[in-house]
Formats: sequence, structure tokens, C-alpha cells
Amino acid sequence: MADLVAAIDQGTTSTRCILFDRGGNAVDSHQLEHDQILPRAGWVEHDPLQIWQRTETVVEHAMAAAGVSASDLASVGITNQRETTVVWDRRTGQPYHNAIVWQDTRTASLVAELERSGRGDLIRDRAGIPPATYFAGGKLAWLLSEVEGLREAAEAGDALFGTIDTWLLWQLTGGVDGGRHLTDVTNASRTMLMNLTDLAWDPDLLELFDIPAQLLPQIVPSSHAEAFGTTKAAFGGEVPIGGVLGDQHAAMVGQVCLEKGEVKNTYGTGNFLLMNTGTEIVRSANGLLSTVCYQFGDQPARYALEGSIAVTGSAIQWLRDQLGIVTSADDADRLASTVPDTDGLYFVPAFSGLFAPYWRPDARGVIVGMARFHTAAHLAKATLEAICYQSYDVVKAMEADAGVTMTSLKVDGGVTKSNQTMQFQADILGLDVICPVVPETTALGAAYAAGLAVGVWETPDDFRTNWQEGRRWRPTIDDDTRTAGVTAWHKAVDRTLGWVE
Ligand code: ADP
Repeated sequence: MADLVAAIDQGTTSTRCILFDRGGNAVDSHQLEHDQILPRAGWVEHDPLQIWQRTETVVEHAMAAAGVSASDLASVGITNQRETTVVWDRRTGQPYHNAIVWQDTRTASLVAELERSGRGDLIRDRAGIPPATYFAGGKLAWLLSEVEGLREAAEAGDALFGTIDTWLLWQLTGGVDGGRHLTDVTNASRTMLMNLTDLAWDPDLLELFDIPAQLLPQIVPSSHAEAFGTTKAAFGGEVPIGGVLGDQHAAMVGQVCLEKGEVKNTYGTGNFLLMNTGTEIVRSANGLLSTVCYQFGDQPARYALEGSIAVTGSAIQWLRDQLGIVTSADDADRLASTVPDTDGLYFVPAFSGLFAPYWRPDARGVIVGMARFHTAAHLAKATLEAICYQSYDVVKAMEADAGVTMTSLKVDGGVTKSNQTMQFQADILGLDVICPVVPETTALGAAYAAGLAVGVWETPDDFRTNWQEGRRWRPTIDDDTRTAGVTAWHKAVDRTLGWVE
């Protein structure tokens, strides 16, 4: 039996295809960045056709590098940047608009209106998440009201909505020639439109956002032998698609956080800390979200609590693209390492407002504590430290909600390449921080979901056997130093609030 599994990891910054063997080792891979389209302050878009083309290219290159064809692949899994919203014409495959990315804040007034009118609580209650610019439902409502002709096309059944998983699935399974219109439960749980208990589109939420039901994909489990169909494109032959998971949910699977209470923190464009809460939906009292963790086959869904941080790694990209003080993320890491600390400078990159645990769309970024002495190196250092302080706030919220004190933290994602950042994270949390040998946990989780569906792995216990500790950072600072840093950070966070109506 073919026993390689291909994972497509369509992230905010780039698209990857990684081929995994039965041991969960990456055999070959390919990765391409795509354009970040920034039409005005607060708006972030991607070109869906470019994303699909890059997906085809990375698949072809990864397969060529490994010297394999479709018949060598047992299954394909997809994982994706969540919430990013696409609407396209089922007859032509043409998007009606660029994809609106999860970081985009154009729906701020809609969200404020939902809260003002008291309708936010219906969303909290049914969908498990607060009304926020972050989620897909508001973005879809914006498209329906702003794109000429879209509402009519939606009502006529010609327009299709999807998050990126849905868009790629539709393309992979045939596109205009009968592509399947599906999403998995984890992606659907990020729309503000799905009932978290029933795992179905909620009629009251559709009415609240005025969304025609014909637009919506069918919701299916995250891992399934038949639900997703087979590839008709990109792989040069038919391969079953066995799994689809939103990126953070995939990272939970890749990190083998399959038992109640297990936690991971992913450091990518943003940061996402999730705790598995088993088959129970836990409601947060501290600014965290309730979400579907995953659903394997006909088993009951597992849920998670999540702390989402909008801007972490993307603040490093901002140093590169907007300020031009570094040439790459590696360069930022090197520059930051030329100073021992920030010497009192704090940077809160609240570019998209503040997400967890604050949920303040009115926040904007601040740099405080500057003296003439400060250099670009201090700002680079403060950018890395901000990633850790934001994670600190979410860890404290998670501990308060779960009523437990964490003893260590599993981590993954691009920023974990930075040793000094992970060391600072261990210091500021006072916890061991642990990264697995295979750091591509997001892609691995998608591969696991896909392989589980077709029998490459018999049970999720097989994933646990594959997980191995790679690097570990231990805390080195005393409590007073930690408290002083956190106190100053919170003063800086206060300064971010109230900048936008
Ligand atoms: P995503 O899946 O969200 O696209 P990744 O997990 O690929 O994200 O991580 C990308 C992020 O990692 C980028 O925002 C980049 O700034 C950051 N990054 C990459 N290399 C380094 C490094 N050496 N030091 C710190 N951050 C890094």
C-alpha cells in the first residue's frame, strides 16, 4: 500500500506541501510565499487564484523532489489559514473579490453595531465566539453588501462561499467541473455562523448576518474516508482527500494534544494557544474562545479553548516590509541578539486591535519608553519580546479558565527558530518551553487526519508514538525581574486602547 501522505498547508504568509512517511517524518517539501495586499489601513487581502496556483506549484515540486506520483500517495490532507473568506462563481471559478484575510478589520463598525444592539450574546451563545472582525461571517456579510451583483448571484445559487479549505477542496476536486463544496467542522467553527453544539449552520445566526443558505458549504468531520472525494487536479492523478483541519486545530493533532488538558502554542503570523477540553464545550470567563478541536470520522467532536493573538510573527514582517530595518526574519533575530535587552522599550503591535484576552478592536500599536539611546536593535528585540508577553497574557487567561497551573508549554511555528525568543518565553512564563523534533506540526496534523481516514495510521495513539522532544528552554530569571517586565508590559498595553472609534 502507498504509505506517503501529502499535506497542503496553506498559511497566511506562504503555502507548503510536505510529504510525510508513516513515522511522521517529512520526506520532501516545497514552499512559496504569496502577496499580502494592503489596500488601506486595517485591510488585508490575498488573491485566491494566486493561492490556488501556488498550491498547484508546491504540490508538483514536492512530488518531483521526492520522485513520486499519485499512486505513491495514500491520502491528501489540507490545513489552512482560518477565517480568511472567499466568494466565487461556481460557473467560472472566478472570485468576486480578493480573499478578505482574518487580520482584516474592515468589519469593525458591523461588529460594534452587533454589540450595541445586544445581538453579540446570541453569537457568543450559539457559536462560542464573540463578535469580532476576525471571523468569517462578518467578512461574508460585508462582501454581500459591497460587491455589486453578489447578493443576487448568491440567491440564484451561482455564488459559493468558503474559507481557504473550501476554496482549495473545490479546486482539487474538479473546480467548475463538479468540484465539491465542503468545509470541516473546525473551519466552520470560525465563521460565527455554526452552532457549536449541533455542528450545523444556525438559522438564527444566518438571519442575523443576512446570509443566504445556498452560499454555504456542507459541514463534514475533519477526518473521513469518503466525505471529501478525490483529487482531480494538482497531483497528476486521483488520490483520496482524507482530512481537512484549520491550521491551529491541525497543530493540536500534530502536537498530539488529544487528551483533555493538553496545550500547545503556535508562533506564526499570529499566535494561537489551544487547550483540548474533550467532548465538553468550556465557556471562557477570561477572553478565550470555544472552538471545535477536531472530529475524527463518526466519533463525537472534541472541543478546545483558544487564545488567539493577531500580530506576532507578522510584526517581524512589518520591521522588514514597512520599516525596512531588516532584510528577513532571520536578520531581525540576528539584529535583536546584538543587544542584551530592550532597555525599557516596549512595543505592542496591536495593528488589528487586540485579540485575546482583551478583544479591543479600538486598540492600535504603540512603542513606549523610547530614549534617544535606542536603536533598531532594541526595537527588533522588543518585537520578539512582545510575542512572548502576548503569549504570557493568554497563558494566564487559560490557567484561570481551566483552574490549573501549567508546568510546561509545547510550541511550534516559524518563530520557534529564534532561540532568544523561546528563551525569553521560558523566562517570562517561568515554565519549560518544548519544541518537537518535527516542527511542522500543522502540516503533520493534516497528514495525520488524512492518513487516519484511510488506515495509514490505525488509531490516534500511533501519533503519540511518533512525537519526540527536540529542543527545550528552561527559565533562568528570578521572580522580581519577571514581575517588573510583565508590569511594564501591561502599562504599555493600556496605552494602546481607545485609538479608534
Ligand atoms: P504561518 O503559517 O502563519 O504563515 P509560519 O509558522 O510559517 O507562519 O511562521 C512564519 C513567521 O515566522 C513569520 O511571521 C516570520 O516572521 C517568523 N520567523 C521566521 N524565521 C524567524 C526567525 N529566525 N526568528 C523569528 N521569527 C522568524
